[in-house]
Amino acid sequence: MNNIELFHEKRNCCGCGACCSICPKNAIKMTEDQDGFIYPQIDRNKCVQCGLCKTVCNYQKTHEAFKPIAGYVATNTNHDQLMKSSSGGAFSAFATEILQNGGVVYGAAYEIKNGNYVLQHIRINTIEELPKLQGSKYVQSTIFDALPCIKKDLESGKKVLFSGTPCQVDSLNGYLKKEYDNLYTVDIICHGVPSQKLLNDYIHTLSDSVETFEFRDKKKGWKDYYISYCAKSKNRNIHCRLSSFYEYFLQGKLDRENCYSCKYASEIRYSDITIGDYWGIEQVHPELFREKKWRDRIYDGISSILVNTDKGMELVKETDSLELISSDYARIAANNGQLREPSHYSEDREKILRLYHTDGYDAVDEEFKKRLGRKRVVLTLKASIPIGLKKKLKELVGKS
Ligand SMILES: Cc1cc2nc3c(=O)[nH]c(=O)nc-3n(C[C@H](O)[C@H](O)[C@H](O)COP(=O)(O)OP(=O)(O)OC[C@H]3O[C@@H](n4cnc5c(N)ncnc54)[C@H](O)[C@@H]3O)c2cc1C
Repeated sequence: MNNIELFHEKRNCCGCGACCSICPKNAIKMTEDQDGFIYPQIDRNKCVQCGLCKTVCNYQKTHEAFKPIAGYVATNTNHDQLMKSSSGGAFSAFATEILQNGGVVYGAAYEIKNGNYVLQHIRINTIEELPKLQGSKYVQSTIFDALPCIKKDLESGKKVLFSGTPCQVDSLNGYLKKEYDNLYTVDIICHGVPSQKLLNDYIHTLSDSVETFEFRDKKKGWKDYYISYCAKSKNRNIHCRLSSFYEYFLQGKLDRENCYSCKYASEIRYSDITIGDYWGIEQVHPELFREKKWRDRIYDGISSILVNTDKGMELVKETDSLELISSDYARIAANNGQLREPSHYSEDREKILRLYHTDGYDAVDEEFKKRLGRKRVVLTLKASIPIGLKKKLKELVGKS
């Protein structure tokens, strides 16, 4: 009897697909459930029960991990890279350092296939390709095709930087099964991932032909999240509070099931370096904001960095294009709940998904607009304030 069980309940699987990548018989396929979340499925006729799939699954194991040894406030001093990044551009600074030294970088990039946005981890080896990986894409990226390529690069002695969500970094650790001195892992602070299917159904409510789509357009500042997209050659912006997908994502109402019990949402880390937005920096580092330079950076983006290993510290020290100020885990985690606990599950998630199953995403969007009610007018007005005026008002309030 074939009795390999890859996961008992959905919350035991993060959908990384390491099991699928390692299978020597090609017996495991990643398949979508009705919400578009991917899960491995075994073809019992092909499976020879070698058990390799179970040995690479770090999600279901307890194993060695790290506690941060240092923390920083960080901004990328290359302004162009900073403005293309979602936070303070820590990722592109590290990636540039690796690429300039002949290494390769793996990260999440969109590709449009049959009119849909497909997010997958790709490999780059030039700085010109870096913009493809920059910027947060708020859905689950697939990494299972990239895993064997990463191993090949590592075995050939290349320096490799892998960046992804904490579960993806740990999935790579599990897949490799050994440590490589030439591997640098960077995980992003993550509060959960919706599925690509949900995102595409949302994008189709915007227009039937969306040519470009970005979650964190910083033209109106770092803290106010805006989607910017181009449809029928016209550029448009939507404030996060006015977008059903964005607002539900920020409230953690569209996440994958295991995200609500994520074991990585804590001080314990599995990467060399952890990066995120430095939320609440004005409260925990008020001394910085005496300088105009830092007051301006509140609009351009500020990263938080946790260094978890000595190797991570080496990379931080070698990276010239980062301005660093010493900080620590307690201050970084003070306003970033994901470093302390997973996102909270709410009954509303089931309500939204039930509506999605019965009437499609259009109905979810309509219902969201109804829920917004009059708030929609106020939010639209607020969102229309130009950034120059916002900055002036903030400076005036600061002086009074
Ligand atoms: C789903 C998700 C949830 C997040 N939640 C939080 C949070 O709660 N708190 C917080 O402080 N920060 C969060 N972040 C991280 C934050 O949005 C920035 O991605 C991070 O600070 C890096 O910014 P940067 O300016 O250094 O580089 P950027 O250039 O903005 O970051 C790009 C990097 O992010 C990676 N990336 C982008 N999208 C994905 C994805 N879908 N899956 C895997 N890797 C991806 C790219 O591979 C690249 O390495 C989240 C990011 C994602 C993708």
